[in-house]
Amino acid sequence: MTSEKGPSTGDATLRRRIEPWEFDVFFDPRELRKEACLLYEITWGTSHKIWRNSGKNTTNHVEVNFIAKFTSERHFHSSISCSITWFLSWSPCWECCKAIREFLSQYPSVTLVIYVARLFQHMDQQNRQGLRDLINSGVTIQIIRVSEYCHCWRNFVNYPPGEEAHWPRYSSLWMMLYALELHCIILVLFQEQAMVTY
Ligand SMILES: [Zn+2]
Repeated sequence: MTSEKGPSTGDATLRRRIEPWEFDVFFDPRELRKEACLLYEITWGTSHKIWRNSGKNTTNHVEVNFIAKFTSERHFHSSISCSITWFLSWSPCWECCKAIREFLSQYPSVTLVIYVARLFQHMDQQNRQGLRDLINSGVTIQIIRVSEYCHCWRNFVNYPPGEEAHWPRYSSLWMMLYALELHCIILVLFQEQAMVTY
């Protein structure tokens, strides 16, 4: 049974939600929209409170904007852990990968999990290496699957009344292809590690 309401008007996150058409153009794995969109969740320590917001490219890439906003607004206590989850329409380019690694090295209490709808210019060796370096520094990267599409729709999209369960059903073929490609990118990392070991 679906709710007759859209996201509650009393929901403090309502103004931070994106519109359904935006979700479609940014997160449909078949779309090739140039700009990136970031949906993110932040939790602190053992708190169950989840802080949600979204961002898009400006003159800077959305990842760099997040880091600038986050580090300027937050006062860190190194004893309090912070978990960040990103839902990105494109995987980070190599320059953003570098910026993310620098950010994480400055804030070791932060853990980052990244879900991506598509791999950005993934035949570019620098971008492939950038993703491997991110994973090597402890970041989890996965392709967005059906469960994440459902989660993002419910929590980040200003869906029409009664359409809480009507998130777009994109072809799983694209998710599988991107997951396979990401697997190939990561595989080189394991080969490099094996060569160092032996
Ligand atoms: Zn970038």
